[in-house]
Amino acid sequence: MKAAVLYEVGKKLEIIDLSIGKPKQGEVLVNMKAAGVCASDHHVIHGQIPYPTPIVLGHENAGVVEEIGENVQGIKPGDSVIMSFVSSCGNCNYCRTGLANHCSRHYSDPKVQHKLFDNTFRIHDQKDNGIFQMNKLGGFAEKQVVPEDSLLVIPNEVPPEVAALIGCCVTTGFGGIVNLENIKTGSTVAVFGCGGVGLNILEGAKSLNANKIIAVDISDHKLEFAYKFGATHVINAKNEDPVEKIKEITDGGVDYSFDSFGSSMIMKQAVESLGRRGTASLVGLAHPKSDVDLNMVDLVRNEKKVVGSFYGYASPLVTMKKIVDMYLTGKINIEPLIRKKFMLSEINEAFEDIDKGEDGRGVIVF
Ligand SMILES: [Zn+2]
Ligand SMILES: [Zn+2]
Repeated sequence: MKAAVLYEVGKKLEIIDLSIGKPKQGEVLVNMKAAGVCASDHHVIHGQIPYPTPIVLGHENAGVVEEIGENVQGIKPGDSVIMSFVSSCGNCNYCRTGLANHCSRHYSDPKVQHKLFDNTFRIHDQKDNGIFQMNKLGGFAEKQVVPEDSLLVIPNEVPPEVAALIGCCVTTGFGGIVNLENIKTGSTVAVFGCGGVGLNILEGAKSLNANKIIAVDISDHKLEFAYKFGATHVINAKNEDPVEKIKEITDGGVDYSFDSFGSSMIMKQAVESLGRRGTASLVGLAHPKSDVDLNMVDLVRNEKKVVGSFYGYASPLVTMKKIVDMYLTGKINIEPLIRKKFMLSEINEAFEDIDKGEDGRGVIVF
């Protein structure tokens, strides 16, 4: 099967033929149908997220089951599936309390995070090198063997490009706002960064009937695009101070702010743009060594809250199921996120579009 492999950080992906093994106990062989090209893959290529190589990236995936291993329950060949990049066991304390995004088994051993749970590879190149699969997935390949616990079976009528995006950016963004505790209708919201995740936070704010929905970015065309997802106001942070402007629009600061990008400067601005008792949510992944310098008196006097939010702030498969149902009943906009479809052979062009800061999502289709 053909796959795009990252052999060395900073280099282009190489399209090569790999051999793929059979699914073992608790594993499933999936034929890929669509894979979104996410900024996190881009971060791995450029070394901001340190992952082992050689690796097949791609964690925003949809496909059709070809074969199941022993003891796989509730999944059969021919099923359409979305994949979670946290494979949740269902038995640890986090899974049992509804926080499968923090599954202890998934995070227990960094050595196996990008291999199957028995610490072996399912894919090898022609020289018999074992190839890592990003978070046990690896969607930039025609096929994958993945743990059954990473799969959500979905109705066949969901288009694969839509299903793929639910695998990462829609769940992270939409879930990241609608799953916040006690968020109220009529709140004011500011979203920093209008990439795939940011646009889905805007969409979530719209679905919660947020009052003012302010999109912040440094690109005018991304801000123009943000209006399609519910932004009522936009701010180009290159031209004006977003904190001052947000305070002006909302008469003192927003109830909720989100950093969908992941940077110390933006996180600080997200906290500073809150009104009293506001909540700043950090959704984007920054460099592992990043810190943020916040004014403590501002936090105390104004009773501000800062939360981290990972993969939709809840069990990913539960959030995904909710989003699939909302898609099928016309309550969430996903197709407009898809800017362009690429063949696997064009994958490096899809990443160049991220460098150029193009709107929306590129999706690899198989
Ligand atoms: Zn992603
Ligand atoms: Zn678990």
